[in-house]
Amino acid sequence: MAGLLDGQVALVTGASRGIGRAIALELARHGAAIGVNYNQQKEKAEEVAAEIVKGGGKALVVQANVANPEQASALVDRVVKELGPIRILVNNAGTAAPRTLRRMSLEEWRTVIDTNLNGTFYVTSNAVNSMVEAGGGHIVVLSSIIGEEGGVGLINYGTTKAALIGFVKTAARELARYKINVNAVAPGWIDTDMTSVLTPEQRKEIIDDTLLGRFGKPEEVASLVRYLVTEGTFITGAVFDVNGGLRL
Ligand code: NDP
Repeated sequence: MAGLLDGQVALVTGASRGIGRAIALELARHGAAIGVNYNQQKEKAEEVAAEIVKGGGKALVVQANVANPEQASALVDRVVKELGPIRILVNNAGTAAPRTLRRMSLEEWRTVIDTNLNGTFYVTSNAVNSMVEAGGGHIVVLSSIIGEEGGVGLINYGTTKAALIGFVKTAARELARYKINVNAVAPGWIDTDMTSVLTPEQRKEIIDDTLLGRFGKPEEVASLVRYLVTEGTFITGAVFDVNGGLRL
């Protein structure tokens, strides 16, 4: 059966675990060849690639710290060289270093800004020429409800996720002429390693505040990303909440 993304190349940053893993598997299921980026967890990234290949797809595992501009550039070059021009870029790689504003160290501030915000710029600015050459495509950026609403102890993280909304809205204006749609997805609380640090009390509070009464699954974010990059042809510069009705 022909897939909606047959013949297309997608680069998913931070695809070794969690939401990025689910996005990589979902786009591969629809036929895309996937650049599976990871930073530290090589084995996990290789497991994702093996699962894609097992399902009849194509995957290339590439180590790169997106917070490093040279590594981000080399990541894009390798994907283009070995898989072909990039049609879909998912800026998913992200990290958190929770601490209140009064206690946050310079290193905690810089690491999160460098990864979540600067990393998105480094990867996107390198990938965009390939996307223009490919005749257009889709860029999806992982923002967060914390970028929209703030969150105690998440000053570094919330700042990056809010800034990424500005990034998306600006890039959408600049890249529309090249037929590149740029959108943000803003998840609420999703069950991944990132949220596994929450205490049972914190989890209960979040669940109580969520209309659907539970955490989300990575696959529930991945299906929205898949929709955007397949059928979201008239959608750009938009931010999509996927949070189970958290702040209602
Ligand atoms: P996880 O912590 O489970 O996974 C993070 C992924 O990002 C890993 O694959 C990791 O690679 C990769 N990564 C981290 N730093 C870098 C880096 N410097 N360079 C390259 N890759 C890196 O996170 P989630 O799956 O939970 O989150 C994915 C995205 O979704 C993030 O942007 C996050 O902010 C966002 N998000 C998550 C929410 C949640 O509730 N989970 C809610 C809202 C937004 P490796 O393992 O190889 O180091």
